[in-house]
Amino acid sequence: MAKIKDSDAEERMYKNVFVCMKCNAKRRAKSKENLLCRKCGSNNMRAKKKAAKK
Ligand SMILES: [Zn+2]
Repeated sequence: MAKIKDSDAEERMYKNVFVCMKCNAKRRAKSKENLLCRKCGSNNMRAKKKAAKK
């Protein structure tokens, strides 16, 4: 069975995605610099983490 490269899919899903630490709104951006939350205007953003495997 052919296996899709998981890392590729993960990169597409999580790369350049940032989450607002205040309201958890997600934003796609090239970098964290000068990134403001669209919802609350906060610049307290973090990179989206990969979903934890259980
Ligand atoms: Zn926000």
